[in-house]
Amino acid sequence: MDYQKRIERLSNLLRTEELEALAVLPGPNLFYLTGLSFHLMERPVVGLFSASAPPRLILPEFEKPKAEAAAVALELFSYGEQEGASLSAFQAALSRMPADGRAVAVEPLRARFHELGLLQAASPHTRFVTGASLLASLRMAKDSAELAAIRRAIEIAQRAMDQTVPLIRLGMTEHELASELNVQLLRAGSEPEIPFSPIVATGPNSAHPHAVPGDRRLGAGELLVLDWGATASGYISDLTRTFAVGEISQELAEVHRVVGQANAAGRAAVGPGVRCGEVDRAARAVIASAGYGEFFLHRTGHGIGLEAHEPPFIRDGEPTVLEPGMTFTIEPGIYLAGRGGVRIEDNVVVTAEGSSSLTSSPRELKVVG
Ligand code: ZN
Ligand code: ZN
Repeated sequence: MDYQKRIERLSNLLRTEELEALAVLPGPNLFYLTGLSFHLMERPVVGLFSASAPPRLILPEFEKPKAEAAAVALELFSYGEQEGASLSAFQAALSRMPADGRAVAVEPLRARFHELGLLQAASPHTRFVTGASLLASLRMAKDSAELAAIRRAIEIAQRAMDQTVPLIRLGMTEHELASELNVQLLRAGSEPEIPFSPIVATGPNSAHPHAVPGDRRLGAGELLVLDWGATASGYISDLTRTFAVGEISQELAEVHRVVGQANAAGRAAVGPGVRCGEVDRAARAVIASAGYGEFFLHRTGHGIGLEAHEPPFIRDGEPTVLEPGMTFTIEPGIYLAGRGGVRIEDNVVVTAEGSSSLTSSPRELKVVG
């Protein structure tokens, strides 16, 4: 991973947007820029990236060796264990903030009252704004190393599913099946921090897009939704397949067929220069024209990368224009309360010519159990 190049791209974006700096917290953004991982806990860790100064990192004294070994040179501002010690590290790190009124962007989804309070106390005249759009511009299009990691995460997830499907038995609980899938994910080579705990939902539970596996047993004539992913080099995959447990009704089979068509239409709509909203509309139109429009309860997809939900978002009216290297899910679904649901989720990448599906697990309705 070329961290120096990423930091340079960030510096250019900061100049264009006339921002003084970007503050990031432990998690995907700090990892993206430095390769460093820290836990988000009570001892604050903040990275400060500006166009005019070397990257700075505020961190506990005992974490210094880790930061010194980072792939990029960082100016370190450390603090000890005594109460209130971190404020002086924040003050030192922010002491060279120019007073010309340029704002500092802050990573919005991880920054807490904790860090924001310290940043404000250390630099009372600085304006802090959200770094959401800056970070989206920085991370949406993936480079070849990132794409290779996503491909690996998909390969692992698909291998884990190949190993899990033969273990599916009538009468086993959702929780038992989820445990098998978790084991197979780790065995296939996923990093221990899987992107999310797998969704295993049968029968009426499959009508909830975010069902949590429980004690319900797999019964004949029901749908089974499996939504799972793996992690490789910090990058994730996110797939969903829907199975038939034994013989299912014609209506449920028809719902599966419609969702499959919507998934194909969504994937076919992807290409450079296309707006995210148009991709959503392409998938949604198939489901609406089959009469199930009101049962497609969520957006068509979301970006994937270091996070399982990141920009771009494939939703109605989203104006973001697709560019080569962007990776996201196409995951239409139909959810019939009390009866069951179907979702088919693939991971795609925008290419110079159009797009390609990175996932290849069979999408046809398979009978299990
Ligand atoms: Zn998913
Ligand atoms: Zn998803």
